[in-house]
Amino acid sequence: PRTMIHLDKVSKVYPGTKVPAVEDLTLDIPEGEILVLVGPSGCGKSTTLRLINRMIEPSSGRIVFDGEDVTDVDADRLRRRIGYVIQQIGLFPHMTITDNIATVPRMLGWDDNRITARVDELLDLVGMDPSLYRDRYPKELSGGQAQRVGVARALAADPPVMLMDEPFGAIDPITRDRLQNEFLRVQADLKKTIVFVTHDIDEAIKMGDRIVVLKERSQIAQFDTPERILAH
Ligand code: ADP
Ligand code: ADP
Repeated sequence: PRTMIHLDKVSKVYPGTKVPAVEDLTLDIPEGEILVLVGPSGCGKSTTLRLINRMIEPSSGRIVFDGEDVTDVDADRLRRRIGYVIQQIGLFPHMTITDNIATVPRMLGWDDNRITARVDELLDLVGMDPSLYRDRYPKELSGGQAQRVGVARALAADPPVMLMDEPFGAIDPITRDRLQNEFLRVQADLKKTIVFVTHDIDEAIKMGDRIVVLKERSQIAQFDTPERILAH
């Protein structure tokens, strides 16, 4: 597959720190696949995702997104093209599920009819009955449902790329297994380019088309298919 995102010798040293969180990372992220970044806590996985969607700027190196240097892409345009899901999903408590899912579409100026239709479609996609949930508030949801809404929100404007940072991390094992399976089913249709971060090698092997094993400072220890990782 062609490369969707290219990292070229990317480093990040956070202000006030000496050791880089990411050092000289060069990585090609293939289009239409789930690429898993797996490695111990603190090895720089989240930093790598934040660099890709420009929540933070690299200290050196270059990131190319679909042929364009990300520093040249307008932030709103980048946001429309990158869905971002994190463990602490951070739904806005004072906003309904619809309004939470529709934050990016509203930013893009979609009208109410389009937003309602899209929200219902997304709730269906993530396995929640729209008529039951569209007008509820986040505190009325279970942890697993909140993560489903987080995935729906990230998918709202149909971005080609999804960055997923331990998306199923804070969920009980049975629900987690179900969410993983359902997400794989959704992805089989959507074929998004996904960068999926986990510290759990079992989850990496289950979710990944390809797996990057990272050690400290996001140094690549291995980059291979799950089958070949398992064989080693
Ligand atoms: P991971 O996602 O693999 O757990 P992180 O990317 O969160 O790793 O962190 C990588 C390193 O950068 C760690 O040493 C962490 O302490 C440090 N770090 C992360 N965020 C910040 C920050 N905002 N300021 C300073 N150091 C940070
Ligand atoms: P704030 O910093 O006030 O949360 P932002 O403009 O950063 O505002 O984000 C607005 C909304 O868009 C938030 O709900 C945020 O979670 C969501 N968002 C931010 N970045 C992305 C992204 N890359 N993909 C999808 N949603 C995003």
